[in-house]
Amino acid sequence: MSDLTRLTAAEMAGLLAGGQVSSVELTKAHLERIDQVDPAVHAFLQTLPEVALAEAAAADQARRDGEQLAELAGVPVAVKDVLATKGLRTTCGSRILENWIPAYDATVVRKVREARLPVLGKTNMDEFAMGSSTEHSAYGPTHNPWDLERVPGGSGGGSAAAVGAFEAPLALGSDTGGSIRQPAAVTGTVGAKPTYGGVSRYGLVAMASSLDQVGPVARNVLDTALLHEVIGGHDPMDQTSLNEPVPPVAEMARRGLAGDVKGLRIGVVAELGGRGYQQGVMDRFQEALKLLADLGVEIQEVSCPSFSYALPAYYLIMPSEASSNLARFDAMRYGLRVTPAEGPATVEAVMGATREAGFGPEVKRRIILGTYALSAGYYDAYYGSAQKVRTLIQRDFESAWENVDMLVSPTVPTTAFKLGEKLEDPLSMYLQDVATIPANLAGTPGISVPSGLAEDGLPTGFQVVGPARADAYLYQLAGALEAALVDKWGGPLLDSAPDLVALAAGGQTAGDAGSGGRGIGHQDGPTGGAK
Ligand code: GLN
Repeated sequence: MSDLTRLTAAEMAGLLAGGQVSSVELTKAHLERIDQVDPAVHAFLQTLPEVALAEAAAADQARRDGEQLAELAGVPVAVKDVLATKGLRTTCGSRILENWIPAYDATVVRKVREARLPVLGKTNMDEFAMGSSTEHSAYGPTHNPWDLERVPGGSGGGSAAAVGAFEAPLALGSDTGGSIRQPAAVTGTVGAKPTYGGVSRYGLVAMASSLDQVGPVARNVLDTALLHEVIGGHDPMDQTSLNEPVPPVAEMARRGLAGDVKGLRIGVVAELGGRGYQQGVMDRFQEALKLLADLGVEIQEVSCPSFSYALPAYYLIMPSEASSNLARFDAMRYGLRVTPAEGPATVEAVMGATREAGFGPEVKRRIILGTYALSAGYYDAYYGSAQKVRTLIQRDFESAWENVDMLVSPTVPTTAFKLGEKLEDPLSMYLQDVATIPANLAGTPGISVPSGLAEDGLPTGFQVVGPARADAYLYQLAGALEAALVDKWGGPLLDSAPDLVALAAGGQTAGDAGSGGRGIGHQDGPTGGAK
């Protein structure tokens, strides 16, 4: 077998089932790939070679023993460091949790382990999932595999980059305002935010509990759906967990991949496109719409006027909830404890010194903002108004569903920006999430699929959002789009990404990587022939 890491997760599962490859071989291949390219990409905060290889060996043994196995059994996975892993450091990209070793597994981690997917390691992220670039990690940024000088999106840039750089076929992420979908869009991968409550949040370190959702990341729609099925379903440990079966996402993905989408009605959100959106992003979006129309999808424009207020509403609700959730990091229960250099070590002084040293600037900014928005005298003006806007956004969705089955837009207004470019300007970073945030505020599912390379040679994404519980239809539409695009390009988008091993072997630094890569090199390539 030449390069196992280039296979899709579904192909890996097929080879495992047929006995042509072992989970140990697959896991070793990925650990080797991580050794080769992760010094340049920095997708992982921690790899777990012994743990992963032991889990792989156990998966192989279970197969030999004739155990009834999950479809993805033996296929390795990477886990965002916001998810608790029993006995294994879980940092959330923060100094305050630098040495926190959870006593339990998050439900989704337990599920991937029970399904016998070896866990390769914990992926990098913006501190406490706050950010759109992974630069707010206390452990240094992750680099975009398409151009090492650029960000991989955030907060789950580590999971997206790991998958995009073929360091893992699958990864888990979390999405509070776009942290699965935005990194997927800017790394040419697929990421889905399930319906709120569709996947357990137990063991997900909370940022904004009414918005947070765990979800799958992969290189194609089917693999994403297969992982979704592993992690989804009711969990009595999560009070907001939906008590219903996982939607048939893989079945519907397959249906879409076979081109079966005739009669689906989609709405193009008027407020999410045009001004402020990069030309190449809009061009790829329009071309994708054309392909869907050719497949028999009915397309109309839909106006969702309140979406224009989603960003300000989110940046009041999210920090409010985060300021409350992060109060638990008080130097008494978890992680870091700093004794003040001077004065008596009172409880307040220890808490203050610990939080001062343990939290980075973006986390502090949001705690201050949230505390302010919730304080007496300001609550109604800020938090209360934001909650009203949230209701208006939900109503916009509800009226859209009277005419269409799903809403579509570009996932992100631009392609990946340069490292450092937006660090000093939080507002411009926040704008990355204008198109992804409405789904979180309404609890609806969303998925991002690659739609090609923009005029700068960098990946851009197509987002599908649907009504709560309609996850399977999103996968159907996304599958159909992916199949049509891969057909047009002559191969998956990631085939045209730069060869990271060659870059490393050539002794090139991140600065020499350039953007775009090899390119598929024919008229209908991912740039739409615009090179
Ligand atoms: N980028 C958004 C933020 O900074 C979303 C984060 C997320 O989804 N975790 O809040």
